Amino acid sequence: MYSTDVIKDDFYITATRSGLGSGEIAALKKSIPDAINLRKLKINEALRLVVEKRSGKSRVVAYKLSSGKKEYVAYRVSDTDFYKLGRDPQLTNLAYPKPPSARLSSSFNPARVNPVSGKISPHNGIDYSMPMNTAVISVISGTVMKAEYSNSMGYYVEVAGKAGVKTRYLHLNKILVMKGQRVSSGSTIALSGNSGRSSGPHLHYELLVKDSPVDSLAFQPQKPKIGKLEKHVYAHIQQYERFLD
Ligand SMILES: [Zn+2]
Repeated sequence: MYSTDVIKDDFYITATRSGLGSGEIAALKKSIPDAINLRKLKINEALRLVVEKRSGKSRVVAYKLSSGKKEYVAYRVSDTDFYKLGRDPQLTNLAYPKPPSARLSSSFNPARVNPVSGKISPHNGIDYSMPMNTAVISVISGTVMKAEYSNSMGYYVEVAGKAGVKTRYLHLNKILVMKGQRVSSGSTIALSGNSGRSSGPHLHYELLVKDSPVDSLAFQPQKPKIGKLEKHVYAHIQQYERFLD
């Protein structure tokens, strides 16, 4: 199995060079949106094919198509059909992955009323109660803009990424990164705590898009409906993914 890129190239030439027959080419053409001109990809378009060669026959088992900011991966499910999985890297996976030891203790609520004062006091993030010193990861790749202490937020880290997306991690016990540092998504940036205005060990995670707080839970990858077809697709994803990234 191998992958081949169609970049500023005529898809039909690449396909023929890869040994794809007319049936394979027709199946691909049917699956790819008409807006994509396969004879000449635009500068911001890319198509990567994963081809499997078996007993002399070449077959496209998956492909990745990106067009501007849109990107999706398609997996072969039958002779004529591909199953598409949407991927918008800028707007999915912006929710904090819940650690097994954590519990969602407070949701995003822009109209939360302070029970003492009776005034509106928005909750601009989500709270995960978790044991002290649980590793806190950065949800996005980006630059550490703040790594400091405030009376209300306690020790906190702010990471700015692409497309005006910012993430904040509050009430930490220990900060493990410095201002100006580049971090990648999934890397440990701090240990959780109970610092600042906090009534127990928890992580407050905040997602901001163009400086407006948004509900991070709305930016989770869609949970696919698992049917027979999807089971088949997901069973093969890992096998193909290393060829697609
Ligand atoms: Zn909170």
